[in-house]
Amino acid sequence: AKTAGRSRFRRFTRDLDREIRARRSMELDLHDALADGEFALHFQPLFDLSRNCFSAFEALLRWNHPRRGQVLPAEFIPVAEETGLIIPIGEWVLREACRHAATWPEDIRVAVNFSTVQFSSPGLVGQVAQTLAASGLDPNRLEIEITESLLLESSDSIRDILLGLKALGVRIALDDFGTGFSSLSFLRKFPFDKIKIDRSFIIELLREDEAGAVVRAITDLATALKMETTAEGVEESGQVEALRAFGCTTLQGYLFSRPVPPADIPALLARGRSI
Ligand code: C2E
Ligand code: CA
Ligand code: CA
Ligand code: CA
Repeated sequence: AKTAGRSRFRRFTRDLDREIRARRSMELDLHDALADGEFALHFQPLFDLSRNCFSAFEALLRWNHPRRGQVLPAEFIPVAEETGLIIPIGEWVLREACRHAATWPEDIRVAVNFSTVQFSSPGLVGQVAQTLAASGLDPNRLEIEITESLLLESSDSIRDILLGLKALGVRIALDDFGTGFSSLSFLRKFPFDKIKIDRSFIIELLREDEAGAVVRAITDLATALKMETTAEGVEESGQVEALRAFGCTTLQGYLFSRPVPPADIPALLARGRSI
């Protein structure tokens, strides 16, 4: 039994060692990725149910590494956050997103994901203001998506930064709502412009009555608080009428389009306007 235990331990340390080395190698690759031009933005449209057209695009980061191929955000964003690399990467994302959006029709917004870590960077509001000014994009056309983890930090300084962003004219959306540590008190704490209802509720919509009840409760609450709602991960046409009946304002998901490279946006807009 003792030998078995020892060999299990050896296997454990060997696996751990391999994991640490893989992690370290990703850190090193990530470090060079910006300078080497390996990042790209793809954009996924948001469909406005009242106007029956696309009204915004969410910027989603893609990493094309020469050896690794396309690395998904779920794999590299956590590493970027732990190393602090998300700060220069986030600045690049915002610059690129604003630069592209400035070339779109004026009624189309751009949504940009901000990591909680970016809020620890001093001068965030000033940097956003500067990026907007440099791109010439109307601040009302930028929507910043944050997650509930930011609100767990609870400090007044986070609230001040969010209010500072709003004072610029930027819109703020609460992403992935209903997952993690959702608390209704978050919604009272800050005047969000929009709540994005997490995909997990949308998936269950046609299969479980309870999911419908939750989505309806969220949209009713949002409407009462004068916030818009986006349903994430809409994949089936049957979900559209249910979400419309619940009073959702915008829909996003593969049913409308996967995230696309910027060059595909004009064609998507031409198609979307005639849905
Ligand atoms: P998110 O902000 O919740 O973005 C939505 C994710 O759902 C995207 O995955 C999108 O491709 C995917 N999605 C959209 N519609 C559907 C659908 O109908 N079905 C399914 N199965 N998935 C759908 P992606 O691009 O892999 O991004 C994953 C996450 O990585 C994002 O989740 C966001 O949290 C993070 N992320 C992506 N880009 C950035 C960025 O520039 N900055 C930061 N801080 N995080 C980012
Ligand atoms: Ca998002
Ligand atoms: Ca989301
Ligand atoms: Ca998510």
